Amino acid sequence: MLVLIANLGSTSFKYRLFRMDATGDEMLAKGGFERVTDYSAVIEETLQTLVQNGIISSPEEIDAVGFKTVLGKNINGCVMADDACVAALEGFADVAPAHNPPYANGIRQFAKSLPSAKLVALFETAFYQWVPEERQTYALPQEWRNIGIRRYGFHGASHKFVAERSAELLGRNDVAASTAALYQNGPSTIAGKPLRIVSCHLGGSSSVTGIYNGVAIGTSMGFSPQSGLPQNNRVGELDSGAIPYAMRTLGLTLEEVEVHLTKKSGLLGLSGVSNDIRDIHEAVLTGNQNAALAINHLVDSIRHWTGAFAWQMGGIDAIVFTAGIGENHHVLRRAVCAGLEEMGLILDPEKNVACRATEAVISTDESRVKVFVIPAYEELVLAREVYRKISHLS
Ligand code: AMP
Repeated sequence: MLVLIANLGSTSFKYRLFRMDATGDEMLAKGGFERVTDYSAVIEETLQTLVQNGIISSPEEIDAVGFKTVLGKNINGCVMADDACVAALEGFADVAPAHNPPYANGIRQFAKSLPSAKLVALFETAFYQWVPEERQTYALPQEWRNIGIRRYGFHGASHKFVAERSAELLGRNDVAASTAALYQNGPSTIAGKPLRIVSCHLGGSSSVTGIYNGVAIGTSMGFSPQSGLPQNNRVGELDSGAIPYAMRTLGLTLEEVEVHLTKKSGLLGLSGVSNDIRDIHEAVLTGNQNAALAINHLVDSIRHWTGAFAWQMGGIDAIVFTAGIGENHHVLRRAVCAGLEEMGLILDPEKNVACRATEAVISTDESRVKVFVIPAYEELVLAREVYRKISHLS
């Protein structure tokens, strides 16, 4: 079965094509476009490129297209990307404005461009279905909760990949297998010692998730991708009381507040330099105090959430760094892991510096808590779920 994974941003389109069968999976091609204004044109170009490069002989060979949708109203898990799914994305377009409109558009466009393919959406919220209710809720009046305001959690495909891969690296194939089948079977009972992982997805958008025996027990992201850790341009954690105060005192409209909190905050807002940690780190080296504050705030927030999940899980066996910052930025990893020897975590400074965007153990051999770098591979999680969904249908 050929599965095309479409990763849609507000102005970008990236894809990977996988061959999936009962014995395994293989990535056949990948590519992408920036500054996209017309999705139908780039989809057409992608299909032509795949034919011209001899990967497929005709677009009809593609059996399914998978979409990593973020958040839908009253929908979750792995579903057919049909009209109901598009309506659910549109129902929460305000909550995830950078993500939902491009996916709603892209799904419609693929339905036209590839009418023979099955379209499947895996929601980023799917991994959090089993988070305890008291950790999913906010202490709000019933009427607010009735309209779907609660903690959802995002980056589900990335954290699920980390859950499976870290279990394999720790020799816990029982946990890896039950995580692989999580969306079909739900959590299974795991015998013996529990496996407790904290996964740090640190990139343009960041979150920390606690994972107990392969199942997410909590995450730093909340109702929208606008909470928890500071993001590139988004604020992360913010006291709700700050919004009416800023509106009254600075004379801001609600629309201006939205722009400030989603486009002018986070690492960019604090550093005043850039939203990219590479530029911010350069500025730190020249003595820029605001840049130092931005990185220190990010590190502090990662440690805050990591500590919370370690406590809630009764301990921690491994911490994992993934995504652009987590995979590449050894200075940040060292800061996150500093001073935890008493808790059984000893980072190996040389292994840490040497590791760049490759899978590695960066703790010492003596460290009871393992520290891993695991490159993000959300597309594979998606391709596997799409394959299972479609195989189940046929
Ligand atoms: P992602 O969203 O996972 O693609 O991560 C993007 C972010 O990762 C960028 O905004 C940078 O802050 C960071 N990043 C990407 N590449 C590197 C690198 N080579 N070294 C340090 N940080 C990086």
